Amino acid sequence: MLQSQKQEIRFRRAALANVGTLVNVLLCMTASRLGFFEIEPTLVLVMSISIWIGHLVFVVAIWRNWNLYFKDASLTVPQMIWVTLSISFLLYCTNELRPLIMMGYLLIMTFGALHLTFKGFLNYGLFTIACYMLVLYGISFQRPETVKIAEEVLLFVSFLFVIAGFVFMGGEFSDLREALNKRHQELKLAISRIEELAITDELTGLYNRRYLMQVLAQHKALANRGHYQFVVCFIDLDHFKKVNDQYGHPFGDKVLIQFSELMNQSLREVDLGARLGGEEFILVLADTTLEDARQVCDRMSKKWMNQKFSEAPDLLLTMSIGVTSYKTAERIEDTLERADQLLYEAKNSGRNCIVVEDQDIQGTLDLV
Ligand code: GH3
Ligand code: MG
Ligand code: MG
Repeated sequence: MLQSQKQEIRFRRAALANVGTLVNVLLCMTASRLGFFEIEPTLVLVMSISIWIGHLVFVVAIWRNWNLYFKDASLTVPQMIWVTLSISFLLYCTNELRPLIMMGYLLIMTFGALHLTFKGFLNYGLFTIACYMLVLYGISFQRPETVKIAEEVLLFVSFLFVIAGFVFMGGEFSDLREALNKRHQELKLAISRIEELAITDELTGLYNRRYLMQVLAQHKALANRGHYQFVVCFIDLDHFKKVNDQYGHPFGDKVLIQFSELMNQSLREVDLGARLGGEEFILVLADTTLEDARQVCDRMSKKWMNQKFSEAPDLLLTMSIGVTSYKTAERIEDTLERADQLLYEAKNSGRNCIVVEDQDIQGTLDLV
């Protein structure tokens, strides 16, 4: 999820909670006028507006992106603590409305459902209970005559049960969230693996024909706009069947993997190496002249000839290459066809050979 989307969600939640505290101001004022509070209506007004302004700070912080400086950018826990303390204060100021206002504690816990772990819920539950116990202590100290022990005990025990229920359910939510996150990560991994498999050759890890054709289409579009040329090199390993026949198919596979590594080492970031199938490969050289491409192929051929395998010390590996450049407005299939034709010429010239189109620089490399 984008940071801006996350911020939007955080802002929405904080703003919603803030509207809640504003409604709370109005309710408190009404209750105060009806005589439900033990303190002066003006004081109730000042306190409830202070609570609202305190919470507004969180909304502004998220709106201005200040929350991003904190580890918990959602500021869920500080917001929960602020509102819990505020509710505790209101509870302290009333006797009759206490069961009603205590519901606020539970409402706050629902905000934690999207954020807290079981341990977090447990801690928060204990914090809420501690706050309420403090409220009870304050009341019994300040106005002991109003305390009805039996009612208080009943209320407190019910409160404990409800909080315990919320903590338990919060833990369940947390497990669910974690399982969902895990599945999401697994799915993301699987998708990226599928995407990778769709464009790579399983044996060598080089790009496959499908991806090659996509890249060639992009190069073609660029070249057709002018001022850009690219070269396609069609590579075929010489007498590869013999390698398989003499040393076995698994060794042949090893040779193909080794060749793909050599290919990757020879490429720049802008170039592309792909396996068409079998022992046939394509090199796409971006922004390159035929002469430069010939040199690249030349270097690769020489390196390949020097490649040694402990299982086959006497094996001499060679390759033949057809090199052509893309001609404006032609079909990619035509470019590939021309490269294949040049490769055919290279094979006919005795192999271990690079044939470059329309050039005199074609010729067989010096072999042993
Ligand atoms: P040329 O010089 O004319 O290209 O001869 P060649 O033997 O290289 O060509 P040919 O097309 O006759 O044989 C290609 C061989 O490549 C035949 C096939 O068994 C082998 N081959 C194709 N794919 C794989 C593979 O994935 N692994 C292995 N080990 N061999 C493969
Ligand atoms: Mg072949
Ligand atoms: Mg071959």
